[in-house]
Amino acid sequence: MEKKEQELISVTIDKDENGEIVTMIEDTPKKKEAMSLYDLPGVGPATIEKLEIVGFTDIMSVAVATPGELIDATGMSQNAVKKLIAAARNSLEMDFETGDELLKRRENIFRITTGSKAVDELLGGGIESGGITENFGEFGSGKSQMAHQLAISAQLPREKGGGNGVAVWIDTENTFRPERIKQISKAYGLNETETLANIKVAKAYNSDHQMLLGEKIEDLIKKQGLNVKLVIVDSLTAHFRAEFVGRGSLAERQQKINKHMHVLSKLADLHNFAVYVTNQVMAKPDTFFGDPTAAIGGHIVAHNSHTRVYIRKGKKGTRVAKLIDSPCLADGEATFRVTEDGIKDV
Ligand code: ADP
Ligand code: MG
Repeated sequence: MEKKEQELISVTIDKDENGEIVTMIEDTPKKKEAMSLYDLPGVGPATIEKLEIVGFTDIMSVAVATPGELIDATGMSQNAVKKLIAAARNSLEMDFETGDELLKRRENIFRITTGSKAVDELLGGGIESGGITENFGEFGSGKSQMAHQLAISAQLPREKGGGNGVAVWIDTENTFRPERIKQISKAYGLNETETLANIKVAKAYNSDHQMLLGEKIEDLIKKQGLNVKLVIVDSLTAHFRAEFVGRGSLAERQQKINKHMHVLSKLADLHNFAVYVTNQVMAKPDTFFGDPTAAIGGHIVAHNSHTRVYIRKGKKGTRVAKLIDSPCLADGEATFRVTEDGIKDV
């Protein structure tokens, strides 16, 4: 039998007041604690608060910040913020993975069916686990309907295009409809009560609450032992858009959306679940050619979404899904229908 590697044990021998020898055994070696913002030079609670307001919440975010951003956020001097950035960079360990390690992790990735073969094909097999898929489109294009479908698909066995798990729904616009879930699960021959029980819905009352709910997903997995395989945020941007109006608040809004998506993305990767977020479009008044609409959230949302799909209404009540800027899939379009029984091919 192979000898198990002995963990380092530190033993302290001391004498108590009666001269008796006492030993103290510390059986877990002290690991180097992960650095927090408090460990940075010249940073106290007030500065931390200022940093956090604009989304600099961990060492990494400071390490990759520009001096200008930190000066704006904290009012510190150029010299001071340069020291801050240098210290943050020094503290980060280089996190390289080999190609085969990455491949191994990719092998655990699964895809959740959208209900439409055409759309699944467009997405390389469905909504991918381990990352964020964003559906954006105008009101009524079918984003929330797709969310209902996915909440059921996520529960199906793997061989049927499911995640064999539980769906979490962060509802910001009051769009979750249990009746709709019942309808679609009936069409799939599933037990309605069970299907509904496997969807955990939380209403987000404002953007801060939404961000907090995002962070709480980890509790569902770790503390409640839920096998979360899909997280829906419908809508990702509505609260942010409503709360941060005017040019002056744009930077703060973007930082917050960035942080929120970072959390979702990190958890998706760590726990291998899929994230489906919806996003609206706004009119671009200065467009003469091409589509006169653009997704909310600009490059921050675009950058944080691993897969982006634009949905629009097509002919005769159909819907058209168009893949945007995918790193490894061919751009293309697929048509589908929203039906009583869920999302279907045309
Ligand atoms: P979005 O979230 O993009 O604003 P929705 O997902 O709410 O849009 O889509 C609403 C549309 O979905 C409706 O206009 C209707 O065409 C279709 N729809 C909703 N429920 C049903 C149903 N039970 N049967 C068929 N179509 C439906
Ligand atoms: Mg909707």
